[in-house]
Amino acid sequence: MKYICKQCTQEYTPTPQRIRCDCGGALWIDAKPRFSKADIIAHDFTMWRYAKAYPIDKAEINIAFNETITPLATAKIGQVDILVKMDSLMPTGSFKDRGAAMVINHLYAQGIRNISEDSSGNGGSAYAGYAAKGGLICNIFVPAGTSLGKTVQTRMYGARCFEVAGTREDVAQAAMNSSVTHDSHYVGHNWHPLFIEGVKSIAYEIWEQCGYRAPDNFIVPAGNGSLLAGAYLGFIELLRGGAIDKLPRLFGVQMTGIQPFVQQFNNEKITIDATDTLAEGIKIQRSSRMSEIIEFVRESKGGFITVSEPEIKAALHMMGKQGFFIEPTSAVAFAGIKRLLEMQQILAGQVTVGIITGNGLKATQTLQALMADGVDGE
Ligand SMILES: *Cc1c(COP(=O)(O)O)cnc(C)c1O
Ligand SMILES: [Zn+2]
Repeated sequence: MKYICKQCTQEYTPTPQRIRCDCGGALWIDAKPRFSKADIIAHDFTMWRYAKAYPIDKAEINIAFNETITPLATAKIGQVDILVKMDSLMPTGSFKDRGAAMVINHLYAQGIRNISEDSSGNGGSAYAGYAAKGGLICNIFVPAGTSLGKTVQTRMYGARCFEVAGTREDVAQAAMNSSVTHDSHYVGHNWHPLFIEGVKSIAYEIWEQCGYRAPDNFIVPAGNGSLLAGAYLGFIELLRGGAIDKLPRLFGVQMTGIQPFVQQFNNEKITIDATDTLAEGIKIQRSSRMSEIIEFVRESKGGFITVSEPEIKAALHMMGKQGFFIEPTSAVAFAGIKRLLEMQQILAGQVTVGIITGNGLKATQTLQALMADGVDGE
């Protein structure tokens, strides 16, 4: 395995310290695996069922919850049938577990036993959970005011959780300093090339669950865009392997206040209007893999759109009433599907998958306050 930078083509031998290119670009795994039905390990019901597609060997896996394939349920947006990928049921309650599982095992194999990570919440809970499972020491730095559900969860896993005042960048800096302050290894999941390699598993699961076919559309909330990147990599490997005949159209949804992907995609100037949003999981002002992800989305013939705070609220209720208790950040995807249908960018009758990126139980306090508002979008 080698790391490669798509900006300047520099290659690196993986070490725990190397998480980005000297040029400032993000790193990717240089392999171009192809995957088809024959490569599935049929008796394994965990994400390691697709081990052939991953850069680390199944034999190297020391830390696992035997995380199972998450359900693909049906739901309706208005009159239109869609499918809902329930990553709210991952071991720590968000899709971040897919990436954390890969990174933690890789670091563990390289002798790392004390990690630090900065996160808006779910990344932190995921690393704390996997660190607890593997017996690693874990330090998590979160923005002050992060949902109690996530900080309590992180602390229950035995991690130290530091709430840092200031910008998201201040939080990252505090985590990066942890090698000095806490004798700890900084993970940097938004940069770490192994993170998206784990997220790829979502594409493989959806492909199997759709009857070994790609859906027409896959719609996700976009923060750093790691979920989009992972989904793209998984589906392109299936395309390369001849297992599907087209990529699904990938759509990233952001909120009106913070929409760097949307603006860059449309060749507009990036402006950050508001930092107060229900969607705390995607309050990211600049993605570490911006230009690459925009290219992936273009290649898939998808796009980026925004939704407003009232639309996010309405989507929370719309999903709740159908039995899905979801994090406000996840509601962005379903508000986005509604928008895309109205814009006729996607159509009824197509196979459209939205994802519940995080469990509503993580944000009970925020959701309680919303209900007290009495605003019901339906
Ligand atoms: C991290 C996160 C996202 C955004 O994922 P990116 O890979 O950063 O785009 C969306 N929803 C939830 C609940 C998250 O925790
Ligand atoms: Zn580079």
